Amino acid sequence: MRTDPHRHVTDSLTGVRNLGILAHVDAGKTTITERILYATGATYKRGEVHDGTTVTDFDSQERDRGITIFAAAVSCAWDGHRVHLIDTPGHVDFSDEVERSLRVLDGAIAVFDAVAGVEPQSESVWRQADRHGVPRIAFVNKLDRAGADLDAAVASIRERLRVVPLVVQLPIGREDGFTGVVDLLRMRSLVWAGGRDTFEEGPVPDALLEEAHRRRRLLEEAVAELHPIALEEFCAESEISAPTLAAALRDLTRTGEGVVVLCGSAYRDRGIEPLLDAVVAYLPSPLDVPPVRGTQDGSRDGTVRERAADPAAPFAALVFKVSSTATGRLSYLRVYSGTIRKGDTVLDAGARRTERIGRILRVRADRNTEVDRAVAGDIVAVVGLKAARTGATLCDPSAPMVLEPPVVADPVVSVA
Ligand code: GDP
Repeated sequence: MRTDPHRHVTDSLTGVRNLGILAHVDAGKTTITERILYATGATYKRGEVHDGTTVTDFDSQERDRGITIFAAAVSCAWDGHRVHLIDTPGHVDFSDEVERSLRVLDGAIAVFDAVAGVEPQSESVWRQADRHGVPRIAFVNKLDRAGADLDAAVASIRERLRVVPLVVQLPIGREDGFTGVVDLLRMRSLVWAGGRDTFEEGPVPDALLEEAHRRRRLLEEAVAELHPIALEEFCAESEISAPTLAAALRDLTRTGEGVVVLCGSAYRDRGIEPLLDAVVAYLPSPLDVPPVRGTQDGSRDGTVRERAADPAAPFAALVFKVSSTATGRLSYLRVYSGTIRKGDTVLDAGARRTERIGRILRVRADRNTEVDRAVAGDIVAVVGLKAARTGATLCDPSAPMVLEPPVVADPVVSVA
């Protein structure tokens, strides 16, 4: 039996990733979510989309329709980091729900289908994420499918999303014969040759060596063009070292000047592991994102206040989802600043009503665990709130604050 990965998670905020997966319907978001939960040990039972056993799609309406409608958040652990995976609806009809979940994310994986490339919905969700300033990495999924073409998908990212793709992997094999990737930073191959559950690291295969070097060079050139420190090293040494490259990729992800592109197949269970490594390496922690803003009573002309992700600051959190479960009314909170404990009285600043915090739960795929407090940067579910609605700000009664409303969405792009 595997040890519980949650035991070794850091308490530090730098180790937290509030992550979403953005995708066109059918690109593989549900399957990837399952694989992430499986890889992180949060669930030991593999769910399959077609048999309706997936952990995130728990609502029967979702199962019936085969799409993820309601957002939910699941906590898992990877490489000492705590990853809160916030489900985002993939269907464009639920654009408000996408907006709501985008508000509470610090970073996202944008998933594309290796056959279709950028599709209309992926484009509109990408724009929504732009407006919310959510840093992204891209994952080109379904490389095992007939007609899969990483280069064409990358070209569509460049052209349709107007962002510089920074491709950090080279696929090994095509379509049915897709067996792994070359990691262009470390120049190592990661292969799933022995079946869906095995994963081997080794040297780059001889047949791919030249191509891997060519692509590494392309990556370095693209990074040097955007990043002054990388450019300096590139000019001085005529190459960029892996650590500098990684640091530059992290900076470019956070500014949105470039997008790191990974590829793979959600059908290879452990193929998700390099993606998780990239989440930890490139996407920001709650400390790396700008402070949230709001006014005392939510009025537009009130004095704007900012709250940084500081556990010692006055408490402020957003209710981003309310659901009825067997446990009772469960309110999902993104805590932006401060700390709350069970029994605390908080103010629903917009409704001018106080609420009492009941049990605080970390929602996991296999079970929920009660925690004694939630701090800035955290995502938890709280039992016991009586009236607070989705979108409500909860705050310290002695420091009232209503978080700024979400950015107004553009008209929904129609999909053929
Ligand atoms: P979502 O709508 O984005 O949540 O996509 P799903 O995860 O439901 O996947 C849509 C369909 O694509 C399902 O039939 C999956 O089994 C299939 N699928 C997902 N990932 C892969 C992949 O890597 N390769 C192939 N060939 N099919 C995939």
